[in-house]
Amino acid sequence: MTPISRILVVGGGNVGMFVALRLQRRLRRELREGRVAITVADLDSYMTYQSFLPEAAAGNLEPRHVVVSLRKVLTRCKILSGRICDIDLAGKSARFEPPEGPRQVIDYDYLVFCPGSITKTLPIPGLAEHGIGFKTVEEAIHLRNHILGKLDLAASTSDPEVRARALTFVFVGAGFAGVEALAELEDMTADACRYFHGINRDSMRWMLIEASDRILPEVGMSMGEWAADELRKRGVDVRLNTRVKSVEHDVVVLDDGESFPCETLVWTAGVKANPLVQHLPQGDRGRVATSAELLIEGTDYAFAAGDSAAVPDLTQPGQFCPPNAQHAVRQGARLADNLVARIRGRKLTPYRHKNAGSVASLGLHQGVANVYGLQVRGFPAWFMHRTYHLTRMPTFNRKARILMDWTLALFFKREVVALGALARPREEFEYAIRTEEAGSNPRPPANR
Ligand SMILES: Cc1cc2nc3c(=O)[nH]c(=O)nc-3n(C[C@H](O)[C@H](O)[C@H](O)COP(=O)(O)OP(=O)(O)OC[C@H]3O[C@@H](n4cnc5c(N)ncnc54)[C@H](O)[C@@H]3O)c2cc1C
Repeated sequence: MTPISRILVVGGGNVGMFVALRLQRRLRRELREGRVAITVADLDSYMTYQSFLPEAAAGNLEPRHVVVSLRKVLTRCKILSGRICDIDLAGKSARFEPPEGPRQVIDYDYLVFCPGSITKTLPIPGLAEHGIGFKTVEEAIHLRNHILGKLDLAASTSDPEVRARALTFVFVGAGFAGVEALAELEDMTADACRYFHGINRDSMRWMLIEASDRILPEVGMSMGEWAADELRKRGVDVRLNTRVKSVEHDVVVLDDGESFPCETLVWTAGVKANPLVQHLPQGDRGRVATSAELLIEGTDYAFAAGDSAAVPDLTQPGQFCPPNAQHAVRQGARLADNLVARIRGRKLTPYRHKNAGSVASLGLHQGVANVYGLQVRGFPAWFMHRTYHLTRMPTFNRKARILMDWTLALFFKREVVALGALARPREEFEYAIRTEEAGSNPRPPANR
């Protein structure tokens, strides 16, 4: 029997996974009877809880515990791992590209568009070659190994220039992602350096570069100032009203003329809507234009939410919801309910949520929060941050594993091993093969 309602969810992230979870619960009977079919397409087969990436990078959490397998939780949906590369809104179809093999056309009756955002970059010389973002669990794992690898290098070299370059860490952009990632990783190295001969907190140079005059705008002016002071007390060089001009040949040049050698530049200077929006009507900040009911402009069958959607903020007329997890998760729930209402021929409900404020972690036992106008800092804010995100983390399984990670960390010190060779797993084997060839004596892999 042909299903009468084919739902295609583009992106299985914060919005997409929550939408699909709610749909498979609310449409259980229709799914069983084959009257509804849900397909979720995502680049990965897992949803990443991005707010925990800084803790995963710092080694407080096992990286696998901050992602949720779509196949495990969406058992009544069809999961496609690959890229949606084209959306035909009027023709109700999308083109899907698996990692290998031919492209497929997916026809749908209802579309849920939530591919999120991508890092916003600038045409800065050397940035593409030397910078790295901080949006994925792979980037978090890489950064941890990379930074610990730089401590290994600095503790092993006799060249002061190599050492200075290895121990300089620059983060550009002082929103949630940049500040939390820097604070957690700085905290990790301060803890780890006791195991690296000749390195202490003062030997490292941590820099936070921000083009505007404040950091963490999400928590308000005074909490942002407090956070900047706190980082400065820890020795972080917080530069406001400053831009990076170039990052060529492992030298960072700032717009005030200063330049210094550096091998680690993390770019977290904002996000922009996923490029897939080019196939759809666009609204505020290049995001797809939606009504308050989360319908894409001009349709009554295609919905959008999250970072890639410009959803009107009904609590502030004329404004649009900012791209954050707080809205993403709530919009996901509203979207799923509206989609069910559409299928059942009922009235849709507008999305309305008044921003509750924000919490941010600044490393172990430090944080800032501004929740419903209540400003909190230090340990209570850090505790609020952990508690809030733990309650938001999907599935009991992941909540339990995260709680276990934190509990174990009370009794054991963090791991300080750099597994940089993870990115080159065949190197050792290739070396062995080369030594067999005509008795040659090739250069061994970098990690041998
Ligand atoms: C480090 C970091 C920390 C953060 N901390 C906070 C915080 O403390 N509080 C807060 O409110 N917000 C925070 N955010 C922001 C928050 O995580 C996002 O706003 C939220 O995840 C947006 O949800 P989304 O579903 O729109 O996008 P995502 O969760 O990013 O999901 C998009 C999904 O679409 C998939 N996708 C992309 N392109 C395609 C394609 N072409 N085809 C198929 N699939 C595709 C992606 O693989 C991804 O799984 C943080 C973000 C980062 C990076």
